Amino acid sequence: MSPPRDLTATAFDTNYSHETAFDGGWHVRQIPAWRAVKNYTCPGCVGVILQGQAHVVAWRSDWIMGDEDAGSMRRHWHSACWRNRRQDLG
Ligand SMILES: [Zn+2]
Repeated sequence: MSPPRDLTATAFDTNYSHETAFDGGWHVRQIPAWRAVKNYTCPGCVGVILQGQAHVVAWRSDWIMGDEDAGSMRRHWHSACWRNRRQDLG
């Protein structure tokens, strides 16, 4: 018996954490600068997360369509925007 592949992957990922917020459960992964290999648009401020800038990726953990579907809708956030989102609305 072996655990699901995704659980195994996250268990050994020290950048990963699970958060429960006002809008449900979220998988949150810290992206260090060296892994930020392209530009992203932050949904918090609609600004650009520049290549090489440490940031976070978040996706739903309680999504009705399942983890795989939620994972396909991951969003990249500035670390500060992710925190402020929770403070403003939580
Ligand atoms: Zn932002």
